[in-house]
Amino acid sequence: MGKQYRVYLAGESVFVCRQCGNHLAVGESVISKQFHGQHGRALLVDHAVNVYCGKADEREMRTGKHTVRDVSCKVCHTVLGWKYDLAYEFEQKYKENKYILEREMITERPEGRRDAKPRIEEVAMLSRRSPA
Ligand SMILES: [Zn+2]
Repeated sequence: MGKQYRVYLAGESVFVCRQCGNHLAVGESVISKQFHGQHGRALLVDHAVNVYCGKADEREMRTGKHTVRDVSCKVCHTVLGWKYDLAYEFEQKYKENKYILEREMITERPEGRRDAKPRIEEVAMLSRRSPA
């Protein structure tokens, strides 16, 4: 797939890149707001769009060893957080293929579009993951 897509999200709220306003994730995809990144509070989200991943890196974290990749904004290339490729501890497995977005790097924008149907559907064409 050589073509570059940018996905526009609609939901009750949308998380956007603080630098450039690029859409990253919908409020509905947040799994937890209790995570900590390198710059403080961070979100664990089920899916992020308009980002790209760096190369896999093994990191020792508070919750054990993980293989992660840095996640950057496709538009302005700011590092926004990381993606979990692999968790070695069984109870951390739920994080695999999920994204951490650092609060410091993003802004939450209320969309208030209750009529907006296309939320994660728009994402689906980019993602090979089967719907949960
Ligand atoms: Zn950006």
